[in-house]
Amino acid sequence: MSSPALASVAVGRPVRGEFTYLVPEVLRGSLLPGQRLLVPFGRGAAMGFYLGPAVQPEGAPTLKPIQKVLDGTPALPADVLALLRFAAEHYRYPLGEAIRGALPPGLTAAEEAKEAAAEVDRFARALVAGVPDALRRAPAQAAALSYLLAVGGRAPLEEVAHAIPGARETLKKLAARGLVQLEAEERKPGVREGLQQGRPERLTAEQDAAVGALTASLDAGGFAPFLLHGVTGSGKTEVYLRAAEHALARGKGCLILVPEIALTPQLVGRVRSRFGTSVAVLHSALKDRERLRAWQGLRAGEVRLAVGVRSAVFAPVPELGLVVVDEEHDPSFKQEEKLRYQARDLAVVRARNAGATVVLGSATPSLETLENVQRGRYRRLTLKSRVDDRPMPRVELVDLRLVRPRQPTPAPEEPPILAPVLLSAMEETLSRGQQVILFINRRGHSTFLVCEVCGLSVRCRDCDVCLTHHLSQRRVVCHYCGAAGPLPEACGDCGGALLKLGIGTERVEAEVAERFPTARVARLDRDAAGNAERLTELLASFARREVDILVGTQMVAKGHDFPGVTLVCVVLADTSLALPDFRAAERTFHLLTQVAGRAGRGKDPGRVLVQSYNPEAEPVQRTLHHDFDGFAAQELAWRRSLAYPPFTRMAAVRLEGEHPEQTARVARFIGEQVARRLPPASLGVRMLGPAPAPIARIKGKTRWQLLLKGPTHAALAPLLARVEACVEQVPSSVKVVIDVDPGAML
Ligand code: ADP
Ligand code: ZN
Repeated sequence: MSSPALASVAVGRPVRGEFTYLVPEVLRGSLLPGQRLLVPFGRGAAMGFYLGPAVQPEGAPTLKPIQKVLDGTPALPADVLALLRFAAEHYRYPLGEAIRGALPPGLTAAEEAKEAAAEVDRFARALVAGVPDALRRAPAQAAALSYLLAVGGRAPLEEVAHAIPGARETLKKLAARGLVQLEAEERKPGVREGLQQGRPERLTAEQDAAVGALTASLDAGGFAPFLLHGVTGSGKTEVYLRAAEHALARGKGCLILVPEIALTPQLVGRVRSRFGTSVAVLHSALKDRERLRAWQGLRAGEVRLAVGVRSAVFAPVPELGLVVVDEEHDPSFKQEEKLRYQARDLAVVRARNAGATVVLGSATPSLETLENVQRGRYRRLTLKSRVDDRPMPRVELVDLRLVRPRQPTPAPEEPPILAPVLLSAMEETLSRGQQVILFINRRGHSTFLVCEVCGLSVRCRDCDVCLTHHLSQRRVVCHYCGAAGPLPEACGDCGGALLKLGIGTERVEAEVAERFPTARVARLDRDAAGNAERLTELLASFARREVDILVGTQMVAKGHDFPGVTLVCVVLADTSLALPDFRAAERTFHLLTQVAGRAGRGKDPGRVLVQSYNPEAEPVQRTLHHDFDGFAAQELAWRRSLAYPPFTRMAAVRLEGEHPEQTARVARFIGEQVARRLPPASLGVRMLGPAPAPIARIKGKTRWQLLLKGPTHAALAPLLARVEACVEQVPSSVKVVIDVDPGAML
């Protein structure tokens, strides 16, 4: 075979398409796909990525030669390159930009890579099992030690320093106190530590069957997708870990994706304590150097197991054998800027490219995944019962229409937030020394302020939303743009008194503190846990049972395993029900089921109380009976009848403009252009809109959207191509983006 003289190259610039370059004599036959190149581009040079041999393009333009090869080993392995090519096409994003976005800093500039991998890693090891009282007045030290304990007692210094700012100094102080030992260790590829902490000796029968199916699949090799549908507390993590052990023992690489690392230190802890230090932990707070080092460690094959958030789907795990997506239903797997990918979907594509086993795990699988099971594309593994046959928590409904009727005369405040049955259940739980979680999916004190005379609400000047009152900051804050101001004393229009309506976490916390003055109460939301340090410390102190009642947003509904929690109260089940989003019911059901699943995970049974103004609503009713299958069947029938995903493919075209009229004009123009090219209605391609977005203004920008639905992505592609062609004629003051398989509809 003669060496190709032409190369197809993706250029790391916001330009679509592949470019053809001449391969200089010296490079012929030596180029490898994924290698970074320096190529002439425009009037200068740019970084490019070699994709493969090219044929002479039509029109015989004069081609320029590649200037230089930047890496010996390709920056990207072949399966990641193939994944990015798929993603760029599917999500309609420039390939070169997509590749650049996936690479760690240090490989994104057009220069030769520097070796970042150090010879020696430094570790901190906890020498105590808990945080001693002596650290009460040293919160930074307590946080660093808590982090170490949460991840299994030992972690690289770098990692702790990333999670907790200033941890290097703090750890030295801890070492001086004899609470922590600092160690240096030479990098030994693939070494496993003998910790094996917390590895249960026996699996449950259901776990055993699931592990058996996965190991058989790993032995057989080849692409095999699974749904691991296990109720909350059924021990899904142990199934992932056993499968990972098996894959590693076979010399294969593993990739574990999780929604948010800071929120799930327990999972990282379990992975670390099982596999020691030969794990790359990839999260958003990593520093440039560490990200590069983790990448190179994987690329060199020194590390074969990566745990990370959505962007880790592009991590260069060598010889990928197993991919796990934990809590696969979680909305955070969708990237909402630049390359707008769904990491769960890409995980399956990557596994297919690599010929790997992929496990999507959840107690509340997404309807997309469920539909794939029902069509026979994925195999379902089920864990129906909790570990040790612990019962599912009893879920009871509290009908707020009966408990909190509006008072006849205007009341300055709303009636009490917690129904008497909640208060007595909390009382009882606390008296037994057990813990309580209160869930309310709104931050702040009151979520809207309304004039009791003229009815006007206090709104953000730049966004189409109400301001939230934050008592602790003594301010009103916009949750969309962050604008804050003093709490107005009266209605700006008529001077009437303002009613504080809509309950947020702060309000619940205040009420709980008043009702239970001796209980230790903490709040978990973006305000209270602003940084990783606070968050880690909060979760750790709740796990250590230093907090009795935890009040929080959906952050409390994640995969936490707190055995002391026997009571979960949903303060208001309805907050996400009425959102103008076809996934509102599904999202509500997920949140309720997940938060309910935090109760009764230890030896004591759990109880869940759900307050709601819509007790008949499907997601609420199905949560009461732990009826995932019933919910899914009903919801799928509804989606089918209205032609929503998973029965259609969707793409959103979103517009954001400085000027309201101009934005509307552009939206209508694009709408007309697309409408002209719509195929006959019988083909099932539909356009909804263009219309103002549900939140019509954010940060002073006017927002419009247009939705396309069709039976396949291919049916949508010509319409999206038309949108892209239109964008070239659109003034730069209107930003147009295409979002394929959109997540949130707001
Ligand atoms: P899930 O993710 O399914 O909600 P976890 O993986 O967090 O559940 O497991 C719940 C609890 O049960 C954890 O504390 C875990 O350590 C424990 N566990 C898991 N498997 C076993 C087992 N086979 N034997 C004993 N305990 C187990
Ligand atoms: Zn605002």
